[in-house]
Amino acid sequence: MKLPMVCMQCAFPTNGEAPDSTLYSLPVREDSVYEFTCPRGHQAVTVIQEEKFEILFEIAINAIVDGYYRDAVASATSSLERFYEFLVRVICHAHEVPIEEFGKAWKSVAKQSERQLGMFLAAHILHFKKAPELNGDQASFRNDVIHKGLIPTKDQAIKYTNDILGLIRPLLIEVKTSLNESVQALAMVRLKERHSRLGETPRASMVIGSTVSLTLSVTEPHPTSIELSLKRIEERKAEVSKRAK
Ligand SMILES: [Zn+2]
Repeated sequence: MKLPMVCMQCAFPTNGEAPDSTLYSLPVREDSVYEFTCPRGHQAVTVIQEEKFEILFEIAINAIVDGYYRDAVASATSSLERFYEFLVRVICHAHEVPIEEFGKAWKSVAKQSERQLGMFLAAHILHFKKAPELNGDQASFRNDVIHKGLIPTKDQAIKYTNDILGLIRPLLIEVKTSLNESVQALAMVRLKERHSRLGETPRASMVIGSTVSLTLSVTEPHPTSIELSLKRIEERKAEVSKRAK
């Protein structure tokens, strides 16, 4: 996936020149910090605000648009796993577990997704007093794709990604409704980390408007399927190629 960026100094010039909102496509990054030099020599730095699971879900949808259906299944799976981690982190924060203690505990499960699932189940049942819905039906399909090299069709990739959305969406709404204070506190920690290495460098902040979204308010409609997102990304790609350099 590539993210379209503008140079803010070109887009909002202070020297009377005409605004230039050319889009520059940058490959998606682990650290969420996007730096480039525009043709006029401005250093442009943009920090993306989304959580990892939101970005991975967008990568999955982009992969479907681009025809990489195996990659879509892998990224949707990773998105769900990182969402579970996020949820455990939020629940721990709400129960006043120090962030360092959470970090120590997570270290013991970080390399095995089955262990992480166990931690998610325990945190969920203790906090919400009910068992979470899990993706039992999709697990064998996912294993066939990831471990046996199955090449899924577009329809299979869309169905799988929609199923993952169906697992994340209700929990995300629940978390934003009942644990919003912890969600906001952890967002501040995340942004502080991302901004920390930039020092005094001027930078812009951006949300990519992901399909599973922490920034969408609970009263706004949350997408129940990825079809509109597929259309949005196709249209954005057309717009980028029109305005790109
Ligand atoms: Zn510029």
